[in-house]
Amino acid sequence: MNLPLTIAMPAEASATPKTYRLLIDGKFVDARDGRTLERNSPGHGFTVSRYAQAGEAEVEAAVTAAHKAFETGPWPRMKAGERAAILLKTADLIEARLEEIARLDVLESGKPIAQARGEIGGAVDIWRYAAALARTLHGETYANLGDAMLGVVLREPIGVVSIITPWNFPFLIVSQKLPFALAAGCTAVVKPSEMTSASTFVLGDILMQAGLPDGVVNILAGLGDDVGAPLVSHPLVEMVSFTGSTRVGKMTMASAANSLKKVSMELGGKNGQIVFPDADLEAAADAAVFGGFFNAGECCNAGSRLIVHEAIADDFLGAVKALTARVTVGDPLDISTKVGAMISSEHLAKVTGYVAAAANDGSSVYSGGKQIASSAGQYLDPTILRGVTEDMAIAREEVFGPVLSVLTFESIEEALRIANNTPYGLSAGVWSASIDTCMSVARNVRSGTVWVNTFMEGYPELPFGGSKQSGLGRELGKRAVEDYTEEKTIQFHRGQRTGWWVG
Ligand code: NAD
Repeated sequence: MNLPLTIAMPAEASATPKTYRLLIDGKFVDARDGRTLERNSPGHGFTVSRYAQAGEAEVEAAVTAAHKAFETGPWPRMKAGERAAILLKTADLIEARLEEIARLDVLESGKPIAQARGEIGGAVDIWRYAAALARTLHGETYANLGDAMLGVVLREPIGVVSIITPWNFPFLIVSQKLPFALAAGCTAVVKPSEMTSASTFVLGDILMQAGLPDGVVNILAGLGDDVGAPLVSHPLVEMVSFTGSTRVGKMTMASAANSLKKVSMELGGKNGQIVFPDADLEAAADAAVFGGFFNAGECCNAGSRLIVHEAIADDFLGAVKALTARVTVGDPLDISTKVGAMISSEHLAKVTGYVAAAANDGSSVYSGGKQIASSAGQYLDPTILRGVTEDMAIAREEVFGPVLSVLTFESIEEALRIANNTPYGLSAGVWSASIDTCMSVARNVRSGTVWVNTFMEGYPELPFGGSKQSGLGRELGKRAVEDYTEEKTIQFHRGQRTGWWVG
């Protein structure tokens, strides 16, 4: 591709950027020191939003409000059905404002509009699923402890939860956490990425409209060091639910260890799709392109390593290259765009740096590899690298850009060794008509999710999370609400107690 891109300016470009205020204890407020952050649209190059910028004072106020709402407010004490009703209303209101939310995520992140609409629709489904789980959450009873005893295990909300999210799926990721925390009866302080906070503030507005009591959800825009770090170390916070890079995840976990907080970590990935000669190669080629370039490769689940059987490598990669040439890169607001802008010029430089280093290490650029000139934003051609070997950084590290690294294998053992040769373990894909092959890969690959003859599908019913350095714990699935609870054991004794200790 590598042609200059012409990007049409949307109406928002000539309007005053919308300012979002912090949500603390049910009110939208400015930062006490009046500081603000600005977000420039990475695809269009204009200031799209301003947020009040939180600091120490706002973290203290937000955590205090969440703590008060937990200790004395109605939310943890109301019937699950009443909480579920508010979650369902929230889902309806998100659906009604789907276009507005999708557009904000597009303008702030550079992702394509058609994809963003799908993400917000998916988020609506998750809020509804969480409402269902709120009503089925229950503990256990033990009537098998002898005639005089009854054991009851309660599942109580854990308390104040800090929710910290990244920029790549701004609305979807907060929706993988917050509805389940709320369903359990927790209260929360949410910190979205400083680059993509707007849609989370719209969610705050929706939650207040849906009837959420004051202080149950507080939202702070701000930087990781100023807001994220104190939200992790604060003594009144009981749990941290973090999605982001493995680097920051490790720092977060170390800080949470000081007060033994519970942590849930959704971190980076270096996922491989393994393609065997007997696969439906047409479908596998399409999935290879989808896995590599969806969300401009800025995706924890990106199938950034294509592990292809040597016998079919040339023909298969020819098909992948031909499909890649048809991927439309361009204006994120154009309905036909498949790959939009990169999140920032710094990130683009990091990605192109990886491509240059891989070429230096001996791989070759089979397709793409160049930045696409545009005066409006930063765009990168979908890139395929051939001749990548396991020892190269590009084969082991998360690049987080539209870059597909191709490795080849001759036996299933070799394919598995390559797939597992990374510190990450988020997801993997296998393509074969043989149930034996698929099962062998699915059972032996070290990852939280394995897709068999499909790639990157997601359902709220299915748990999601990583093994190895891709994370800790699981989101979604039927236990998603339980994650935000603490078990309490109550032992009831009937009649006079026997077996006294002293007598
Ligand atoms: P990041 O780690 O830089 O930031 C994530 C969040 O942490 C942001 O809100 C940031 O402000 C905050 N933060 C930064 N420093 C902090 C600190 N010291 N203490 C507490 N919070 C801090 O990640 P990113 O660049 O925003 O997102 C991309 C990363 O997220 C990739 O590695 C990607 O794989 C990962 N990710 C994982 C999943 C998953 O489900 N496994 C999903 C999406 C993204």
